[in-house]
Amino acid sequence: MTNSHHLAKDTADTIVALATPAGSGAIAVIRLSGPQAIAITDKVFRGKDLAKQSSHTVHFGTIRDGETIIDEVLVSLFVAPHSYTKENVVEISTHGSKYIIENLIRLLIRGGARAAKPGEFTLRAFMNGGMDLSQAEAVADLIASNSQASHQVAMQQMRGGFSGELRQLREQLIHFASLIELELDFSEEDVEFANREQLRALVYKINSVLSRLIKSFEQGNVLKNGVPVVIAGKPNVGKSTLLNALLNEERAIVSDIAGTTRDTIEDEISIHGILFRFIDTAGIRHTEDIIEAKGVERTREKMKQAKLIIYLFDPSQSSGEIQHQLDEAASLGMRAVAVMNKTDLVSNQQKQELSSLPLNYISARDKQGIEELKDEILEKVNLHHINTDDVMVTNIRHVEALRHTEEALNRVLAGIEDPVTSDFLAMDIKQALYYLGEITGTVTTDDLLENIFSKFCIGK
Ligand code: GDP
Repeated sequence: MTNSHHLAKDTADTIVALATPAGSGAIAVIRLSGPQAIAITDKVFRGKDLAKQSSHTVHFGTIRDGETIIDEVLVSLFVAPHSYTKENVVEISTHGSKYIIENLIRLLIRGGARAAKPGEFTLRAFMNGGMDLSQAEAVADLIASNSQASHQVAMQQMRGGFSGELRQLREQLIHFASLIELELDFSEEDVEFANREQLRALVYKINSVLSRLIKSFEQGNVLKNGVPVVIAGKPNVGKSTLLNALLNEERAIVSDIAGTTRDTIEDEISIHGILFRFIDTAGIRHTEDIIEAKGVERTREKMKQAKLIIYLFDPSQSSGEIQHQLDEAASLGMRAVAVMNKTDLVSNQQKQELSSLPLNYISARDKQGIEELKDEILEKVNLHHINTDDVMVTNIRHVEALRHTEEALNRVLAGIEDPVTSDFLAMDIKQALYYLGEITGTVTTDDLLENIFSKFCIGK
């Protein structure tokens, strides 16, 4: 059951929350937003009269509980509508002690503020027109971003991304919807206000934008969530050692901040700004019994999820066996990198025998050849020249709405080709409008908003 009480669409309250991470730190920022934000702060702040100060100014003073000084602080003022939420916003920078933070928030609540719910600042930014829904979602992505590419994609979306383009197309479609509605009023007279040729041209135009955006999802999703990789190979070839060698180099920042979309944290590395996520192959690594059918099946399943397979071999394997494995890999039609581990144990004669095979030589244990392997991996996934400035869809909710829009528009096209009555056409156009509006938040339901903003953490 969804708890619709969470959603505080009423913006008359002034809300307060810690905006920096919980725990102690050099500085903590406590943020207030709402009509009384400045007045409430004034009640506990000793320094200048904040109500008389202009927007975008910073003031030094003390916070007092009666005569007791709680802390010396800096107060930043943002007067409506020139703030993140478009409301009066105050940010109080205090020393980052849990004691100070708790007391300050308690004082502000006593003064009339209410503790903010998760995502409530960003919800207000959305409700007050400061950003559309897809931009609000990008704020969560930006905070969760942990590689250069995911950061750039989120930043691009937060700054407007594709929502402007969609809004424009939606407006043109609304124009047709209203003309067709008009036809319904005159249905007795068999008139056509909406030029079918123009409608068809518009639908084609929208569909081409939609399919470009839908296609970008595959890449966008990979950039955001990481390229899934599997390391495959027989027991003891050195899979765990290789994984550790890769991870030791450059461990990705893995956050457990609430609001991170990832549920399980896997091993991740960032190679030249692209995130690679090693699919948990623990099952494969430890219970690998090639003969056991179930084991093979499980391995295959895991491999299907991967965008790249690293086939790892060691010198105990014959060139025939390796060739056989590589042929099988090729038949799967997946991107693969073939690697010979334990080069320290490869004899010269073996090297000769293997020379016809496309192998990368490494020693996982001695960290030899790891850099070259990384370059090869990057080359194989062919993502490094993606232009992250391009508009890219990274959100599953968006891509689903885009697909639904496309379906509705295809029904519109079919309805023009094989003429249906205006009311059917109107219905399909309305559906397309509905799904387009869902992306930017022109059309919302409480459940949808609840779903999005409850994933944020408090203070965002
Ligand atoms: P896994 O079963 O494929 O995960 O293999 P492990 O990573 O557990 O490694 C199996 C054994 O091979 C361990 O004893 C490693 O120390 C050893 N090993 C891994 N890499 C190398 C290497 O580059 N050279 C040598 N000589 N031994 C290695």
